[in-house]
Amino acid sequence: MFRKLILAWGACALLSAQSNRFDILITGAKVVDGSGSAWFYGDVGIRGDTIAAVGLIPDADAAMRIDGRGMVVAPGFIDIHSHGRRGIGAVPAAENYLREGVTTIIEGPDGSSPLPIAQFLAGIRKTPVSINFGTCVGQGSIRSQVIGLANRKATPEEIGKMKDIAEQAMRDGAFCLSTGLFYVPGNFTPTEEVIELAKVVGRMGGFHISHMREEAGHVLDSVKETIRIGEEGGLPTQVTHHKIIGQPNWGQSVATLKLVEEARARGVDVTIDQYPYTASSTGVAALLPQWALEGGPKSTAERLAAPEQRARIKTVVVENLKYDRGAGDPKNVVIVNCGFDRSLAGKSLADITRARGAEPTLENAAETAMDLVNQGGCSAVYHAISEEDVVRIMRSPYAMVASDGDIPVFGQAAPHPRSYGTFARVLGVYVREQKVIPLEEAVRKMSGYPAERLKLWDRGLLRPGMKADVVVFDPGKVADRATYEQPHQFSVGFSEVIVNGKLALHEGNVTAERPGKVLLGPSAR
Ligand SMILES: [Zn+2]
Repeated sequence: MFRKLILAWGACALLSAQSNRFDILITGAKVVDGSGSAWFYGDVGIRGDTIAAVGLIPDADAAMRIDGRGMVVAPGFIDIHSHGRRGIGAVPAAENYLREGVTTIIEGPDGSSPLPIAQFLAGIRKTPVSINFGTCVGQGSIRSQVIGLANRKATPEEIGKMKDIAEQAMRDGAFCLSTGLFYVPGNFTPTEEVIELAKVVGRMGGFHISHMREEAGHVLDSVKETIRIGEEGGLPTQVTHHKIIGQPNWGQSVATLKLVEEARARGVDVTIDQYPYTASSTGVAALLPQWALEGGPKSTAERLAAPEQRARIKTVVVENLKYDRGAGDPKNVVIVNCGFDRSLAGKSLADITRARGAEPTLENAAETAMDLVNQGGCSAVYHAISEEDVVRIMRSPYAMVASDGDIPVFGQAAPHPRSYGTFARVLGVYVREQKVIPLEEAVRKMSGYPAERLKLWDRGLLRPGMKADVVVFDPGKVADRATYEQPHQFSVGFSEVIVNGKLALHEGNVTAERPGKVLLGPSAR
């Protein structure tokens, strides 16, 4: 009896000694836990790949101590709209993301993902990377696998096939169904067809995320359509990279946010994500009418070579330069990269038109744009969003932060600065300088809220038992540095970035650790 008691006491002491021993201990920081709750001073203890303790931890013993005084400790950020498959193979450290606190990216946006998902994720697993990686399945990719890039309705049999692919994708680990109803072939898809796939994905625990059909003059219809997909598909639905394009449409975010709030009031789970910039980025082909893109680049080239069709295309390009992505001036369209001529990176449509010996009028710039598309296409940055709309959307409690960026090869091309700066910019410009939202709310939009949307129940918050994705930053110094003119500049202010309990960034330096994992959606766990 006495011996048993001693044994029990011994085991207990051992346990309590263990419970104050950590692999990493961050002390005396402002804890911003990702839920939106007010910060408090505390310590965060990490053991293995898990957060073991949060709060004031007395008599703690740790293999590594990080002095958090003057710093904020927060959950690692989750980028719910990422094009990170571009670059993650070449840049497995994903330094642009680490240096703005991102520890998880979600790929497969805008209706586009590799298929099958199992094979895509197996490919990602081959190279150890620094951050976690998950994906959506793209509706456009599913459709093009079944009926190609044709502009027609799908037959019931074809819709059946698409539903099977969506179901398999969810079983393989997709988190969501993404649509890109602005892009070929999403733009050929009736809403009803998307709803059929949404029902499958919703039943399996996923959500819908949309690059909407239109973000300029018809943005209200697009938000209504996104809400309808959620309402009739029976699943959460997200307006991704929400913005209002084109000067005549500025201010429409008042109405779009009202639509979101009304839908939520009647029980539709609608959410938003956003990047904090007044320029967007996509292909130059986005200036062309959608009918001109049917069938892919070869068909487009044929249309551009036929004078009558070229004239009809030009009319629309001129309109888009005037009222839509061009915001009235070809200098607002700046080339990111042209595969056929790298020297065009950083030049505007006005510059290129002038270099061709023509005045940079809307008509002449339209000719330039059509020729760029014809030569193989280019990506571009479009300065056509107002700051008021950016701020209004950011203030919505239903809006998360997401980059829509990728993993650039440092120094290559002239990418949109969002890849380097999105998260740090919100913390520096919109929290510290302009006080648009409080720090705790910004961190929630970057961690707890996207985790909830993804049903990623073991990440996104600082809580014992959660996976140890943890960041430490200086709230007085955190800032984005990337600009449109000089995009290849890392954000500053992050000293420690811990992914699955391992330091991927330590004392401001990228380490040799590659602790990122492939994360699986709710139907594959
Ligand atoms: Zn998009």
